[in-house]
Amino acid sequence: MIAIPGEKLGVIEAFEPKGDFIIKDGNIYATRLSEVKVDKKHKIIEIKPIRKGFVSVGDTVVGRVDYIQRPFAFVTIVSALNEDLAADMKGMIYVDPEYDYAPVIEGSIVRAKVIGTSAGILMLSLDEPGLGVLESYCNYCGGPLVVRGRNSARCIWCGRVLRLRLAPDFKSKALPHRVILE
Ligand SMILES: [Zn+2]
Repeated sequence: MIAIPGEKLGVIEAFEPKGDFIIKDGNIYATRLSEVKVDKKHKIIEIKPIRKGFVSVGDTVVGRVDYIQRPFAFVTIVSALNEDLAADMKGMIYVDPEYDYAPVIEGSIVRAKVIGTSAGILMLSLDEPGLGVLESYCNYCGGPLVVRGRNSARCIWCGRVLRLRLAPDFKSKALPHRVILE
């Protein structure tokens, strides 16, 4: 079985852990993405990190925002530490329901930091310098965006102003054709 960083693997009373792990409050957790082998007969749990192309807490990742369903934006992670991933991983960015705008929109490519895991999904944050939206087009019409100021961009095609958490190296992109809105 494959364990993600922070995944609980068992209790120390039941198994003797070997390999790369941490123990907290008597529980055994994976520290990195790992291959886990359980030997029930000898009560041994072996945790071997999978090194290439996987993600750990604290890593910087790049992903695409698939959709937003408050209080989360759901992200497919496409690369970590500038390496392609061996398998698709999903992440979530917390979107404060108190705010009337989200820091990202559907289709945004974001640079984020992995701050934890929850039920097999990586928890991501944009709250650090250098993080934020790397590429985006307008989520109303697909048009290109021009940066208006800090965390604000305007669509050239439809004129809408979008509040986004922009990375310092933000680049605009556009769909090939304008989406006609009803
Ligand atoms: Zn637009």
